[in-house]
Amino acid sequence: MTGKTRTICLGIESTAHTFAVSLVDEDGNILSDVRSTYVPPPGRGIHPRESAQHHSQVSPMVLREALAKAKISLKDVSAIAFSQGPGLGTCLRTGATVARALASYLGVPLVPVHHAIGHIELAALKTGASDPLTVLVSGGHTSIVAFSGGRWRVFGETEDITLGNLLDGFAREAGLPSPGGPTVERFAREGKRFIELPLTVKGNDVSYSGLLTAAIKKLKEGKYRIEDLCYSLQEVAFSALVEASERALAFLEKSELLLTGGVAANRRLQEMLRIVAKEHNARFLVVPLEYSGDCGAQIAWTGLLAYKAGVKVSIERSQVKPRWRLDSVPIPWR
Ligand code: AMP
Ligand code: MG
Repeated sequence: MTGKTRTICLGIESTAHTFAVSLVDEDGNILSDVRSTYVPPPGRGIHPRESAQHHSQVSPMVLREALAKAKISLKDVSAIAFSQGPGLGTCLRTGATVARALASYLGVPLVPVHHAIGHIELAALKTGASDPLTVLVSGGHTSIVAFSGGRWRVFGETEDITLGNLLDGFAREAGLPSPGGPTVERFAREGKRFIELPLTVKGNDVSYSGLLTAAIKKLKEGKYRIEDLCYSLQEVAFSALVEASERALAFLEKSELLLTGGVAANRRLQEMLRIVAKEHNARFLVVPLEYSGDCGAQIAWTGLLAYKAGVKVSIERSQVKPRWRLDSVPIPWR
């Protein structure tokens, strides 16, 4: 134990495009949440080395600003949490290096956090969800999960690319600005005509790669309005996910349906899931917009919960886990 009066966790996020630092206290107050995001040039995806270079360049400024905004000095920090995975190896290593240096300099525990569990715990904190069926949709995940027997269990997921990848990939082909999700949503609002595209649900999993190929093919035919393509792409992609989510909700009889991750910002997806929740007498909860995308607060808050439950890792065993599965992580604090 440290002699600190208030438990404060500093969390570092660096799985992909965003380097972020946040400080939270044990009452769930987010004292600061500072981010810097690498934006690839138009028409290109995230380049792992360039994104990691961005992270190492901005890390001192982001760290300093997060401490200043929280009005916290490093000596008041009880634990250092970091995104151990999953994500891009180069980016994860940059954040992990900063975290190890801080933890060993301060002599405080280093706490490994699974990035996706961060999206779930932060959404639960902000919405008050206690035992939700959770739909996690982001650049790295498309998963339908619920808590059971000490872990988040997967009741449906993508078999190939994520929903975020689908929207970003389509936007890139269409020459729309990055990130693609918000742009696709904007165009989709002006869509009028539904263009037939393939919807794939296998068991309770979705599959999006065939849909992406088909949508790009239609785009290249040059016969369709971009607004109609974006509208149709969203309708088909979201319908597949909503169908799988509804089945899981009916089966598990949860009384809360929680939507989180970067794609949770999408109003049409929210609307579709809200209808499903209502039909099954479940409360529909969605992560607030400012905490939907990758941020330090998801790592700091989950890190704080984990730290209080005794989770920590030695520097020697703190290697990053680019392919860490969400359902393999024991959750002792729930
Ligand atoms: P994350 O990995 O959690 O930061 O989420 C990033 C993903 O969220 C990217 O694929 C974005 O395109 C996507 N995204 C952000 N805002 C929206 C939106 N309004 N509609 C759909 N996707 C979105
Ligand atoms: Mg994410």
